[in-house]
Amino acid sequence: MVSTVLLASLLGAIAWTFLEYIIHRWLGHNARARPNPFAAEHVRHHSEGNYFAPSWKKALSAVLFAGALIGPSIALAGVLAGSSFVAGLIGMYVAYEVLHRREHSHPGRGSYTRFLRRHHFHHHFANARSNHGVTTPFWDWVFGTREEPGRIRVPSKLAMSWLVDGATGDVHPEHAGHYELIRKE
Ligand SMILES: [Zn+2]
Ligand SMILES: [Zn+2]
Repeated sequence: MVSTVLLASLLGAIAWTFLEYIIHRWLGHNARARPNPFAAEHVRHHSEGNYFAPSWKKALSAVLFAGALIGPSIALAGVLAGSSFVAGLIGMYVAYEVLHRREHSHPGRGSYTRFLRRHHFHHHFANARSNHGVTTPFWDWVFGTREEPGRIRVPSKLAMSWLVDGATGDVHPEHAGHYELIRKE
């Protein structure tokens, strides 16, 4: 029973990482899928840098999505496995929201979290057709959209607060190996 819950929630979490990729790549960046409500919010996230869609919209989408998914999941896998799958998926979705915000608001400590930031900011500032995954680069690797981030050139008006050294107004020396600021006159 415990193993059913663990396995089904793990599968749900993995399913979210796949959805995260699909939603971001196709709803967010594929011209044929636009306009759509996700793309409208996502374009603002790209053009304003620190803009995130309002939490109520995210919570409402998550509730509607979980509501639509729970019936078929239980019908297919039973009450325990089906509801654990949905719980794992929604749990990972929440983790994604937290991680994405933190990527924009904090520099990250470990080498992997810093790698994930470079993966994401390469998407923002170098090539929006690459690196769609936020919690993992795995699906970019599977679908051939993973690009190794080089030195990322960040327009100064979109710079993350953690990137800029308050004293000099330039890139914090700690991050200068991976990022540079570009200023438009
Ligand atoms: Zn972002
Ligand atoms: Zn994007």
